Amino acid sequence: MSNCGCSMEPVAYFQRPNGEYVIVHHCHGCDFERFNRIAADDDFDRVLSLPAQPPRTSREVKAMQAENWLAEHLEEWDDDMEEVG
Ligand SMILES: [Zn+2]
Repeated sequence: MSNCGCSMEPVAYFQRPNGEYVIVHHCHGCDFERFNRIAADDDFDRVLSLPAQPPRTSREVKAMQAENWLAEHLEEWDDDMEEVG
């Protein structure tokens, strides 16, 4: 279950540099994504049938979102400066 109460669905998997497999769960209600290490009771064949993604961590995703946010807002600031000049 996710924050908004929608059910999470496995949408992809990736392999970490240390060889660990991680399943990406996606919430269709709020676009929330969660990474879960494969558990012993997970169906490995079913995991591998999901699309593979490049390895990433929640921290990397957050850093990427922060960079995107910064890039967007830096453009806004540039515009403001042009108006002043
Ligand atoms: Zn949700």
